[in-house]
Amino acid sequence: MGTIEAPHRAKADRPAATQAAADQPMYASRVKVYPKRVFGKVRSVKWAVLIVCLVLYYVLPWLRWDRGEGVPDQAVLVDISNARIFFFWIELWPQEIYFLAGGLILGAFALFAVSSLFGRLWCGFTCPQTVWTDLFMWVERWIQGDRNARMKLDQGPKDANYWTRKALTHGVWVLIAAATGGAWVMYFNDAPTVTWAILTGGASLEVYFFFALFAGFTYLLAGWAREQVCTYMCPWPRFQAAMLDENSLVVTYRDWRGEPRGKLKGEGHGDCVDCFACVHVCPTGIDIRDGQQLECIGCGLCVDACDSVMAKLGKPKGLVAFETLKNLSASAAATAAIRPGPERQKAGMAARHMPRFIRPRTIMYAGALTLVSVVMLGAFLLRSTLDVTVIRDRAPLFVRLSDGGIRNAYTVKIVNKTREEAPLALVLSAPEGFRMVVQDVEADAQGRPLLPRRADGIAQYRVLVSVPGGRRLAESTPVTFRLLDPAGRAVASTSSTFAGPRP
Ligand code: SF4
Ligand code: SF4
Repeated sequence: MGTIEAPHRAKADRPAATQAAADQPMYASRVKVYPKRVFGKVRSVKWAVLIVCLVLYYVLPWLRWDRGEGVPDQAVLVDISNARIFFFWIELWPQEIYFLAGGLILGAFALFAVSSLFGRLWCGFTCPQTVWTDLFMWVERWIQGDRNARMKLDQGPKDANYWTRKALTHGVWVLIAAATGGAWVMYFNDAPTVTWAILTGGASLEVYFFFALFAGFTYLLAGWAREQVCTYMCPWPRFQAAMLDENSLVVTYRDWRGEPRGKLKGEGHGDCVDCFACVHVCPTGIDIRDGQQLECIGCGLCVDACDSVMAKLGKPKGLVAFETLKNLSASAAATAAIRPGPERQKAGMAARHMPRFIRPRTIMYAGALTLVSVVMLGAFLLRSTLDVTVIRDRAPLFVRLSDGGIRNAYTVKIVNKTREEAPLALVLSAPEGFRMVVQDVEADAQGRPLLPRRADGIAQYRVLVSVPGGRRLAESTPVTFRLLDPAGRAVASTSSTFAGPRP
């Protein structure tokens, strides 16, 4: 009989490297990141995106949109008490919530497509965590100074200067957080009314709760948690790996050109002078020269930082750049045997190709995006503004009348999504002999019951359909209810059945 090896070897038997790895603690304390200010093309684009996103978020609830009397005039509003979503000229009813689901699916496919083309563009430029963290960092820099000044402040004495600057920074952060929480509740309430109510202490408990919740999370996530949200809390970086391939544009360090890194004066060095400028500007505190990392949000600030170093050294920009991994490999292969210098730079750049934007993955995402857009557009253009639903009473299924006839009762609901109030005539399409009575309504000149519509609302009516006694009746007879407008045109219809006794 052979010996059975123990599943876990004794500590002493393990190889040294494995042992060292096993001895590593599972938790590492956060090392505070002090990102340095940077100038450049990418930074300018990021500022522009940040301003557009913030202006949109804070200003949208204040825009007005005239929808007539008795209807909210806020351009973008989720009106929970009336179960409506208003978006400029679009008004969604609870029955149309699938448009929201469609919008989310559209957003997801758009994100997949953008990620497969341009890597973490969403994370680096438009994600709310990035936008608000950038804004909070700007405030911090403005009050406490740039990287070195902030580090000095934190490591120096905790004197009046320290506490004044810290208190000012947190004060401005709290104001921004309050504005953010306030703007959030405005999307669910009339903006001027709820603002006044919050300021004067007259808002409801729910409003104060959500205001405080969003303000608190803004302050915590953008002021304190920052890069930890991207690294530990957000699941998107994990999913995203499935969308990227070697043709996706990602922020990369052209190691074939930069290595071996070293000081400017040394011999045989690549273009990287090991100045750490790219590391010092990184909002997540990583070194892009270590290759693709989960922590890299693709903000491209290291591109700007390195470009400014290269410009000062009189070398071509683009040592750190938005590049595809395919090009990176091609350049590395083409320059493997060339010594560092202009020749290597030339050969490496010549080996590159235009990124392939059209490939199976992007075609698939674009196809799904187009399909969902077309379906949603079609559904939107064909959506009815008037619906009728009929529910037949189940208990009892039918009533036997004193003359031997059979009667069924129905509840007719008219959903009117317009401000139109003119009554509609209800017509029953059923076999000969079926009679219809609608309770509590008047009839038109032809004796048809006239059902008043509720402007922008639901009206409900009790309808009785009967068949005289002595008539052969199936257990279930199909019937149709139609609504006719004042001009006699059928504007909505629905089918149901008339229940009779078992033959
Ligand atoms: S490595 Fe560069 S692109 Fe990635 S997060 Fe840091 S600065 Fe942004
Ligand atoms: S900024 Fe450029 S030169 Fe400086 S360390 Fe980073 S990659 Fe090297």
